[in-house]
Amino acid sequence: MWNNDGPPMTPADSERLRAAFRGFLGGGQRPDSAARARMTQFNTDQPFVLRNAGAVGILLDAGKEQDLLNMSGSPTRVLPLPQVVVAHEDYTLFDRLLGAGVTPRLEANIQNTLSMKDSVPQWNTVAEIRGTDHPGQVVIVGAHLDSWDLGTGTTDNGTGSMATLEAARIIAQSGLKPRRTIRFILFTGEEQGLLGSRKYAEAHAPEADSIQAVIVLDNGAGAITGMALQGHLEAYALWRMLLAPVHRLNADTINDAVKGGTDHLSFIPYGVPGFNFNQLTRGYNHTHHSQSDTYDKAIAGDLTQASTVIAVSAFELANLPAMLTRWEKRLPVQPIVAAPVSPDLLRGH
Ligand SMILES: [Zn+2]
Repeated sequence: MWNNDGPPMTPADSERLRAAFRGFLGGGQRPDSAARARMTQFNTDQPFVLRNAGAVGILLDAGKEQDLLNMSGSPTRVLPLPQVVVAHEDYTLFDRLLGAGVTPRLEANIQNTLSMKDSVPQWNTVAEIRGTDHPGQVVIVGAHLDSWDLGTGTTDNGTGSMATLEAARIIAQSGLKPRRTIRFILFTGEEQGLLGSRKYAEAHAPEADSIQAVIVLDNGAGAITGMALQGHLEAYALWRMLLAPVHRLNADTINDAVKGGTDHLSFIPYGVPGFNFNQLTRGYNHTHHSQSDTYDKAIAGDLTQASTVIAVSAFELANLPAMLTRWEKRLPVQPIVAAPVSPDLLRGH
């Protein structure tokens, strides 16, 4: 949404902005860490720049098909302007109108509250099966219990949460005792920036060297296809071995993908090996964060398979002869709330 007092944004304006952004990055090369830091700062500053230029809100493309919406939001990026998500079909209509030189007029009625003062208590849900030989050494199996409320959160991350519970049940029911403790955690606040797992990892930082590994399931309703090594190719032999027993479940494909966006990331800065299973897609990009994330998307056979693969992986990690080699620590960990933007931008216009 743009203030009518200012000139409307034209396609030429967009192209100028894009060119300026490319120049800002240093001319089309692969960004180094300094450039990435500037990109992050730019992303933080951009809505303030827009506000100071007279923008009254931001329209965001939902980026899904068939009129689905999409939602997100995080204290890691508090915006100075209201942000409204519109269905991709509407967004592309606005784009075509702007391209044809027509300025669409929009009216929005947004009623909500945002407070930086009041904190809302949230809880991680934790249970464990104690290890027989090394109870102080822990394998963490995780998923996140929170979701967005356009749907009911089945695929993001109800299925991961239920597979975590079922893995716990399978191990308990088997009667087998793991040598190390297996801790099952349903994290909270994942969607707002991994809040629950970051706080958990922070609170348990002194024991981080006793966490054998963290394994997470958070890529939808599909069966597990295997593991992503998170860039740690040296873990290939380990995962070949861990997944060998589930070969017949088609769960033993390993790739070196570095996966973001979920709770294993919170532990990696402390040197804990952290992994997020690869899964069949099963329309996950369609369902997650949208009205389509509903119970009918759960697939019983896939969930049974995923629960089994998690149970086997967790049990084997708990029974390895030794602790896994620590990954490189990246401390201190960045605070959750985004660093303030340049002070002159905060002053407004
Ligand atoms: Zn998720």
